[in-house]
Amino acid sequence: MIPGVEGGMVPSPALSVVVPCYNEQEVLPEFHHRLAAALEGLGLEWEVVYVNDGSRDATLTVMTSLATADPRVALVNLSRNFGKEIALTAGLDHARGHEGVVVIDADLQDPPEVIPDLLAAARQGYDIAYAQRSVRHGEGFVKRMTASAFYRVMQRLGGKVQLPPDTGDFRYMSRRSLDALLQLREQHRFMKGLFAWVGFPAIAVPYERAPRAAGETKWNYWKLWNLSLEGITSFTVGPLKIASYLGLATAFFAGIYILQLVVRTVFFGNPTPGYPSLMAVVLFLGGVQLMTLGIIGEYLGRIFNETKGRPLYIVERHIPSSAHAQATQR
Ligand code: UDP
Ligand code: MG
Repeated sequence: MIPGVEGGMVPSPALSVVVPCYNEQEVLPEFHHRLAAALEGLGLEWEVVYVNDGSRDATLTVMTSLATADPRVALVNLSRNFGKEIALTAGLDHARGHEGVVVIDADLQDPPEVIPDLLAAARQGYDIAYAQRSVRHGEGFVKRMTASAFYRVMQRLGGKVQLPPDTGDFRYMSRRSLDALLQLREQHRFMKGLFAWVGFPAIAVPYERAPRAAGETKWNYWKLWNLSLEGITSFTVGPLKIASYLGLATAFFAGIYILQLVVRTVFFGNPTPGYPSLMAVVLFLGGVQLMTLGIIGEYLGRIFNETKGRPLYIVERHIPSSAHAQATQR
């Protein structure tokens, strides 16, 4: 077969590895090296899709040279920073792997050496093999506590969609589960929730999560809080229910209080006490109302964003991998 002659048709690789990258110039070369080494002995055709999510450093330059040096590298350059969840979606959209994809972070916190284990687990008849952290290195007590609290809240509120705990985006997905996932085009993308929503038989593969190799994490507590809000509001209407129950409970206690007032006034007269209690009630009710409005606002804002129907991301440049070049190289 002559490369690229049949109407530009390039056969697709079996596996795509999708890597969202934001300011990863230090780790990227080492990442690519370790990834290639890990996938070497598997005896399958693979490509890696690097997504540059509007990095402010030389990440794009590093990626471009990787793509020039290695035909198995595909590059998607987004027009600006869209955030990890969307960068990941862009990569998945451009993944050509016909058997499946692996999603992995660039910072080497997800060791590429685990990928063969993921594939082996999936071959036992699972569509999804997700890596589950058994030890969290380099993550403080508070981070671990908040993470576990979040999972517990999600488990309570989540209803039918259950998130596996201690799981990131690092996973293998079969082509059919990926195609299912790609049908979900919502703007507010809580990927862990979307992965779980799709369903299909899944298996956990335990591994030890390493601390970041270089560069720094883009997460801080404010962002994590927002991610949790995202997770909760895009997957449950639980908080709206809490709002109504809160209203109900307040009304109930207010009723008892009013009854008590009436009884007291009728039987014992009214020497006009009650400024403190009045203040207390007014402030409390004001707080409850503002909070409920806030909850409604969170949902309303998301509805607003969805109704605009914008594309999820804009691609500045796309260089596909060429599995053919790889085939002829051997
Ligand atoms: N990332 C991205 N866009 C962003 C932030 C992060 O593509 O706006 C990428 C980042 O380059 C990395 C992955 O998402 O490959 C995970 O990011 P990070 O390591 O900062 O998150 P953490 O591991 O702390 O959850
Ligand atoms: Mg990381």
